[in-house]
Amino acid sequence: MGRAPSPAVLDRLSRPLRDVRISLTDRCNFRCQYCMPREVFGPGFRFLPTAELLTFDEIERLARVFVSLGVDKVRLTGGEPLLRPRLPELVARLARIPGVEDLALTTNGFLLTPERASALRAAGLGRVTVSLDALDDATFASLNGVGVGVERILAAVRAAAEAGFSPVKLNAVVKRGVNEHAVVDLAGRFRHTGHVVRFIEYMDVGSTNGWRFEDVVPAREILDRIAARWPLVPVAPARPGEVARRYRYADGAGEIGVIASITQPFCHGCTRARLSADGRLYTCLFAAEGLDLRTPLRQGADDGEIRRLVAGVWRLRIDRYSEERAEQGPSRANKVEMSRLGG
Ligand code: SF4
Repeated sequence: MGRAPSPAVLDRLSRPLRDVRISLTDRCNFRCQYCMPREVFGPGFRFLPTAELLTFDEIERLARVFVSLGVDKVRLTGGEPLLRPRLPELVARLARIPGVEDLALTTNGFLLTPERASALRAAGLGRVTVSLDALDDATFASLNGVGVGVERILAAVRAAAEAGFSPVKLNAVVKRGVNEHAVVDLAGRFRHTGHVVRFIEYMDVGSTNGWRFEDVVPAREILDRIAARWPLVPVAPARPGEVARRYRYADGAGEIGVIASITQPFCHGCTRARLSADGRLYTCLFAAEGLDLRTPLRQGADDGEIRRLVAGVWRLRIDRYSEERAEQGPSRANKVEMSRLGG
């Protein structure tokens, strides 16, 4: 940490490669409707066997390659990344890579105990994002698909804060007719805590969540609901390519964010690559295919060869799916599942 980032490789739209999201597993202990609907990801679903997952050595090698191409922000995701055994060991290895300025993790919080939070913090993890879509058990349990209650996740947020992760970011996906009533509750619950709730427009990720435009609650409506109670003031982005639009409460009670991929797409500033748990490089959340990096890795390719492969794909990148969706409607059938891409 602290080293100037490597000059970033640019894509066809002059977007630098700055962020990589690394999925550590395609498995999850939740079945959120908008990501892993239980009717699809049921008992018979074939998840990636351990032998097909990137090893820690392979993840670290690829992370170093990404950093050498301009990446300074690494986010660990899944499925549910806390399901990956020995996670603090991997975190420590990634945190030691010169040039990794920001090492973050997104979790559903179910396994985030005080002990795990402290171990991840001690290993060098910088930030934690916890998903929480509602504050009433009935709604939350139906959304997560496994009947888990809210208190368990609130305890995870406390554990993260006590371990030194502050602010904790909370992600809440808002779906019409399901949890728009929770928007003001969630905002209110985290005012004056320093933690930041980011409300996410329900997206047509993957090909199995049955997405319909009419189920989207636009960011504008989410903000209006909150501002009706607590006036909001826009905040400038902290870094180019920041996904969330940020707002602070006029009364000083903190900050919220909205991620408006549907109604206010932000592809023009998208600097994110995604690495799946089985070693495929994806250049968009709504990708239908990715480049296999695991095979060349396991066939003995050196870092230079891997770097050429990654840079080659990024330089050809023209992805702007969300902007295209806004212009011409949803246009891709066989999108890879978000639980495989890493969100
Ligand atoms: S739709 Fe694709 S290109 Fe656009 S912001 Fe999302 S990940 Fe980036």
